[in-house]
Amino acid sequence: MLAACTAVNPYYNPQLSHHTPSGFKNNYAETVNKSLTEVARWQWESFQNGTPKPPEHTTDIAVPDFNRLNAYAQASPRPAPQITWVGHATMLVQAGGLSVLTDPVFSDRASPVQFAGPKRAQPPGVALVDLPPIDVVLISHNHYDHLDRNTVQALNQRSHGTTLFIVPLGLKTWFTDLGIVNVRELDWWQCTSVQPNASSAPAVEFHLTPVQHWSARGLGDRSATLWGGWAVFAPEFHWYFSGDTGYSQDFKDTRKHFAPRWKDNGRDLHDGFDLALIAVGAYEPRWFMASQHVNPAEAVQIHRDLHAKRSVGVHWGTFNLTDEPLDQPPKDLAIALQANDLTEQDFFLLKIGETRTLPTR
Ligand code: ZN
Ligand code: ZN
Repeated sequence: MLAACTAVNPYYNPQLSHHTPSGFKNNYAETVNKSLTEVARWQWESFQNGTPKPPEHTTDIAVPDFNRLNAYAQASPRPAPQITWVGHATMLVQAGGLSVLTDPVFSDRASPVQFAGPKRAQPPGVALVDLPPIDVVLISHNHYDHLDRNTVQALNQRSHGTTLFIVPLGLKTWFTDLGIVNVRELDWWQCTSVQPNASSAPAVEFHLTPVQHWSARGLGDRSATLWGGWAVFAPEFHWYFSGDTGYSQDFKDTRKHFAPRWKDNGRDLHDGFDLALIAVGAYEPRWFMASQHVNPAEAVQIHRDLHAKRSVGVHWGTFNLTDEPLDQPPKDLAIALQANDLTEQDFFLLKIGETRTLPTR
């Protein structure tokens, strides 16, 4: 977290305000970096307060319906979109004829090594070997709890290289160094299309969008590769994945950027993303986390900024990365929903392993 910027950004374009000679920066925060003193203060306060406290309730688990997950790709006509929560930021989104995994992490620990570091409280809701064939893996950024080497290698191997990895700018070489070559990398607002297997099916568009965060895998690569959220457009389902983010103007910008697709004439704001996957965990203490991780109240504000028809909370209940107990996000989300006159119909949480079917547009 404290590394000096020693990287060189081979993509540096001085015309783009989020590019720097050594990497990338946010649109609305000069830096989300914390000083050594601030890290030490957080660690000391956590130690003194005995945080994170253990949760009162373990995250609920559902037994996945493997037939339902596997049937999606073969069924004709195409079934309604469905999502399955694997845990943390890993969601299987089956829509537009594609099975897409967000930020897949199936390892025991979100860490450079498997003998130390944050350990998952629950096994993955669907084991990696039980997944249906994965067409696309979306990566939001280069942090261990979002990009796991063992997982992406296993996904690449089991698909014999047919799984496509779509990643933020600067990450492609990390994959090719591992022998994973079916990779496309995008800058903010860039887009790539993927054709589902049925040759007559329309292509699905994947757009990288700005969010407020950072990236690092070790010393010397802080913010060397880009981070972002994903906007995905299939004819019958428009969905969004926030990755990790602090609260910023970026979500209103994202809404504005895509508004012409929804014939948003400034009056009818009801059309928009059919579903937003928004991070709701890893937010305490606020003085340290707020610039990089939203709390549930801010996640609800993002839901509103995007004019999402529905949202689902991710990035909680699996790895304890910060000071709040693992079961705090649902409690804080319930308060935030009530304060905004919203219900669990508008912004919901899933059990680990649970599948939910969603209406098409
Ligand atoms: Zn992160
Ligand atoms: Zn994270």
